[in-house]
Amino acid sequence: MEAKVEARPVVKVEAPAPAWEDARAAAEQHEIKMTARDVNVYYGDKQALFDVSLDILDRSVTAFIGPSGCGKSTFLRCLNRMNDVIEGCRVTGAITLDGEDIYAPWVDPVQLRARVGMVFQKPNPFPKSIFENVAYGPRIHGMIKSKADAEEIVVTSLTKAGLFDEVKDRLHESGTGLSGGQQQRLCIARAISVNPEVILMDEPCSALDPIATARIEALMEELKENYCIIIVTHSMQQAARVSQRTAFFHLGKLVEVDDTTKIFTNPKDTRTQDYITGRFG
Ligand code: ADP
Repeated sequence: MEAKVEARPVVKVEAPAPAWEDARAAAEQHEIKMTARDVNVYYGDKQALFDVSLDILDRSVTAFIGPSGCGKSTFLRCLNRMNDVIEGCRVTGAITLDGEDIYAPWVDPVQLRARVGMVFQKPNPFPKSIFENVAYGPRIHGMIKSKADAEEIVVTSLTKAGLFDEVKDRLHESGTGLSGGQQQRLCIARAISVNPEVILMDEPCSALDPIATARIEALMEELKENYCIIIVTHSMQQAARVSQRTAFFHLGKLVEVDDTTKIFTNPKDTRTQDYITGRFG
């Protein structure tokens, strides 16, 4: 017998659903790791980002490109609340990680930054040993209970960052004594050591030579199998080489986001077309 379906009352929607509800609904499609809805950022009175909305896919590399000053780094810093530490910086809108609002009052930014790690433009190892650079984060997050735990985390993280073989005989030497490319891989190992899900990279190769750059790019290719990676780059070639999705920013606005091949071969917006063909920027 067919079940009787009761007529549901028609609900009149008076206002659009709040941005956060929309973001959560999008994130429930499991391949979306982070979402942003109507994100605006102000430094004092100056607005740096205008109504940025986008979805970031898991287990892939997303590149943010655009001319200098367009807001790429500002937006990247919204994703792990690094803007919280900049005085006078205000963020509005909604950002989710696995469907949860990262700006909710109960979210601890320190815990959030373990889940959404960051690698900066200039390699910035602590003035400590290679071992301690990697063990420090897990220790403050209570992940290390014994010497063996520390050793395991350090070896695993350095291996994932493609650095272990080069440093295994000098783990107790200073991290600052490594070459620039090695230091950047040490910083990646440090980010990995606290089991992040997302790794933000702000122009991670801009201080490196082409060989060290190629090494980091190859590493991104490997890491994307297990992590959601977002990279800010001023190099369109690098975006085309390493990313699967590309977002183009201009004057604080997200102009378009799409598959990288589409952005570089058939963008929708003339501003994107003009930027990738070198007409400005
Ligand atoms: P991009 O990464 O694309 O070069 P940024 O996000 O660094 O762009 O900068 C976007 C805008 O915000 C620029 O106008 C920049 O001057 C401004 N800005 C960035 N950081 C700060 C800050 N700490 N204080 C004030 N203004 C800032």
